[in-house]
Amino acid sequence: MITTYDFVPGVVNPRENSIEGYWFIFQNRNLLVSLDYKLEVSSGPFRMGLEPLRTQYLGELNGEKCFSGEVSKDSEPPEGMKFRDLRSLYKRIPNDLYHVAGRAVLINDWDRNHCFCGACGKPTKTSFNERSRVCSECKLPHFPRIAPAIITSVERDREILLARSPHFPPGILSILAGFVEPGESLEEAVKREVREETGIDVGDIKYFGSQPWPYPNSLMLGFQAEYKSGEIEIDGVEIEEADWYSVENMPTTFAGDISISQWLIQDFINRKKNL
Ligand SMILES: [Zn+2]
Repeated sequence: MITTYDFVPGVVNPRENSIEGYWFIFQNRNLLVSLDYKLEVSSGPFRMGLEPLRTQYLGELNGEKCFSGEVSKDSEPPEGMKFRDLRSLYKRIPNDLYHVAGRAVLINDWDRNHCFCGACGKPTKTSFNERSRVCSECKLPHFPRIAPAIITSVERDREILLARSPHFPPGILSILAGFVEPGESLEEAVKREVREETGIDVGDIKYFGSQPWPYPNSLMLGFQAEYKSGEIEIDGVEIEEADWYSVENMPTTFAGDISISQWLIQDFINRKKNL
């Protein structure tokens, strides 16, 4: 399920007088698509009667230019179109467009949240040679912010460690995840998160793959780890339930295949089901 796309990122529109392309226009975190879930090449928001608060050039997808845009909370969608929650569009719009939409929403967030310098409070301006906003006074650059988070399966022979966060819908269990702390390696983050949340020590940590997760701004880094020692001990706050499960007695996990947690669990099932 880990795929790459023929997307060439860019900061400046190479032909500035032409703004035809894919426009990823958001209202909050809802993307503008047609009522029948289409996102097609267009001449831009102004032609649709929209007045965006901000726009940015994103790059090219399959030779078509891509732009992000954001409109105010009270903007009405053009006729025949609707702002829809980005997550709900998974598999409803083509995967490569969904992927670029994830970039677009993060670029909108960055553009909106760094209008003023965090150091001196003066206005910033969009840079023309890199994806940053630079302070007009102290010249400090402000880059889009991404929060790295590890997500890991933990296996013990034919079993996988699954746990339940109180934030999950009722009855759902999944693998463990958590944000990387400043100064920490990814492997250290895997060991720490698993130990903190379940009391288990792991080793033999292998990289699985990654997934941008723009809800709100994570980069999920997937790992597979092996049980080393310890008994399950949960804190009852971050984790309210944890146990070992074999393929034959898996509990309810998140349905579908939108996220790397599901890819990791499916990979475990595929490897262990015939053993
Ligand atoms: Zn400044």
